[in-house]
Amino acid sequence: MANRQMDNKVVQVERAGAPSPVLFLCEHASNRFPNRFGTLGLTPDVMDSHVAWDPHALTITENLAARFDAPLVAGGVSRLLYDCNRAPEAPDAVPARSEVFDIPGNAGLSEAARNRRVEEIYDPFCDAVDMTIAACQPQAIVTIHTFTPVYFGKPRDVEIGILHDTDARLADAMLSRGVGSYVTRRNDPYGPQDGVTHSLKLHAQTRGLLNVMIEVRNDLTPDQNAMDRVCDALAQCLSQSLSEVGVTMKEGA
Ligand SMILES: [Zn+2]
Repeated sequence: MANRQMDNKVVQVERAGAPSPVLFLCEHASNRFPNRFGTLGLTPDVMDSHVAWDPHALTITENLAARFDAPLVAGGVSRLLYDCNRAPEAPDAVPARSEVFDIPGNAGLSEAARNRRVEEIYDPFCDAVDMTIAACQPQAIVTIHTFTPVYFGKPRDVEIGILHDTDARLADAMLSRGVGSYVTRRNDPYGPQDGVTHSLKLHAQTRGLLNVMIEVRNDLTPDQNAMDRVCDALAQCLSQSLSEVGVTMKEGA
């Protein structure tokens, strides 16, 4: 790890130095396609869509991290270049198709080109998480995602998903409270069977840290007022749940 070049543009870290009980992650924060990788043959509308990133997820993450005075680590490029919530051996880490869209620049990718994505995107993200954990000594990791209201043509009625792998301590506490009046469900619309708990397993479970993945339907936050309502509800649920499982929160969280 020592010789890897830390490229601030492929990973964004905020409040990296301060001790904090919580670390926030946002792997799918960005739909940026740096020139050196190109745009994978995608049209602008696909590059702006949920296929390329999780719209609004970074705003939610930054809002919550500010309230908790907590560090955050966010991906700085599109997940279509490399999905930082997937292991390098996972086929969908560099998907050739996502939902109903072909990703031409990922089809038939050479092993060398794929390895370059791992080294230039995934490895720096993991290094940033490792360094932030070492500096902040968090007790819990919370990763924030958003999902599209219509998937493969079908509407989804779940509004907020509380996802976990084998360590459900924090997720159970959140689910027993619910998130405001939102339709909140366990491991919905995705779950461990979809490979989405990679970060939770790698960064939290291996260290025995509490963890949860929060999925917010991206049509719940069309404007600032709606965004504030979602973040208020998430912060209240998360704060109370962290206290319940033994995490001491700072004032104001
Ligand atoms: Zn996501």
